Amino acid sequence: MTDDLEQFAAAVRQAATRPEVSTAITAIHQQLQERIDQRQPVCVASGKCCQFERYGHRLYVTTAEMASFLASLDRLSPPPIDTHWDRTGCPFQVGRLCGIHAIRPFGCRIFFCDPTATEWQQQEYEKFHRQIKDLHQALEIPYFYVEWRQALINLNLVSI
Ligand code: SF4
Repeated sequence: MTDDLEQFAAAVRQAATRPEVSTAITAIHQQLQERIDQRQPVCVASGKCCQFERYGHRLYVTTAEMASFLASLDRLSPPPIDTHWDRTGCPFQVGRLCGIHAIRPFGCRIFFCDPTATEWQQQEYEKFHRQIKDLHQALEIPYFYVEWRQALINLNLVSI
């Protein structure tokens, strides 16, 4: 593990002990859901967007989001991790669905393959990502932006 990833994992674990971090992230998720409800982009639940290598994109998460996720995941027993994960796609995908839908990261919430919503979601991504970034400063959390599987591996949430 590189120094950066070690610092990321330590910062996530520390922030996960602070309830105000999860409260703030949940509030941002709720604001985003209101924007999605207004815009109503189409999701046909194909599950393709969770197969990162096949779809040609990646999911990134921040320290505070990962801390909120970790705190929520601790309450799920056992965690719904795909034990047959082949190191591609998301280890939480179950069939075409998300096994952690209620606590999925911001990047999953804002992503829609609806071509009419591409520009809208890019604008919303930038706006909400800025809000999440600012939250790090407000709560004095070191800001990291890490690829999702890398984050899970460095927090020992999945094995390789
Ligand atoms: S967390 Fe859920 S929605 Fe996000 S990539 Fe994984 S399976 Fe898909």
